[in-house]
Amino acid sequence: MSTALEISGLTKIYDNGFEALKGITLEVETGDFFALLGPNGAGKSTTLGVVCGLVEKTAGNVKVMGIDIDSAAYEARRQLGVVPQEFNFNQFEKVLDIVITQAGYFGLTKRQAMPTAEHLLKELDLWDKRDTPSRMLSGGMKRRLMIARALIHQPKLLILDEPTAGVDIELRRSMWAFMQRLNEQQGTTIILTTHYLEEAEQMCRNIGIISRGELIRKTSTKSLLAELSSESFILDLITPSQQPIDLPSFDTQQIAPDQLRVTIQRGQNLNMIFEQLSQKDIHVRSLRTETNRLEELFVDMVKTA
Ligand code: ADP
Repeated sequence: MSTALEISGLTKIYDNGFEALKGITLEVETGDFFALLGPNGAGKSTTLGVVCGLVEKTAGNVKVMGIDIDSAAYEARRQLGVVPQEFNFNQFEKVLDIVITQAGYFGLTKRQAMPTAEHLLKELDLWDKRDTPSRMLSGGMKRRLMIARALIHQPKLLILDEPTAGVDIELRRSMWAFMQRLNEQQGTTIILTTHYLEEAEQMCRNIGIISRGELIRKTSTKSLLAELSSESFILDLITPSQQPIDLPSFDTQQIAPDQLRVTIQRGQNLNMIFEQLSQKDIHVRSLRTETNRLEELFVDMVKTA
């Protein structure tokens, strides 16, 4: 498998002498959906800033789709779509013009860029706003415009710094769906940073955790979650129960007559809950995870790092 991003021995010492990155080595495979996690100030933005050419590194090497960012800066940049945290487009320019102007930086004429622009703006629900000056867009629309602009030259690797910060949950879900389609259907490699661990859990196959300028963990989301010893679910019941429901193999807590919290330990089978409930003639309408599981692990890991 080829590598979309290859970082080796990356260090960054800022002008004030602060060592923000202490030798980060990280590979992200082509086609991956990768989350870079870590507490505030850990060095995530600095790392991505170096990759995108926004921050000058002190030492180390970075390759994007196999292309060295020092020896072939433009070619490497051509492979990359970048969505920074701050809105940095011209507030007076219109939506479609912003996207088309960006295409120009990559040598595309308006005619060449138009089909992709139309496709992206439609996918991101901005086509109706194409003639609107960007300052008149809502926050969520501005975020989507940043994504459309980053994708106009059809990059192979998309890097997003906190893509859904401040976006309400419904819109966040539609942005997740868009990013998932991009990854699955176009094969675009996606790397993001996020504060919403649910975002990483839902979308990302692999996770890297940075703490104090070092990569302390790189693993699959699945195996990280498997490290959790217990997990709680909320069950909505078809048959309400006035009595507390007691199950032989699980910790239970009655939240309401028609709502039950069940905690299962690692290795226990979810189906057993249903079996034990149906023996009591209690049936379940729906089930959902209660806690953000990644959150618990993450807090532990960063504390002990
Ligand atoms: P994160 O994205 O994980 O929140 P950053 O990469 O933004 O972290 O920052 C890493 C560290 O580098 C922080 O301690 C931050 O204060 C510091 N830092 C960031 N930019 C600068 C700068 N221009 N000058 C000095 N220190 C900086």
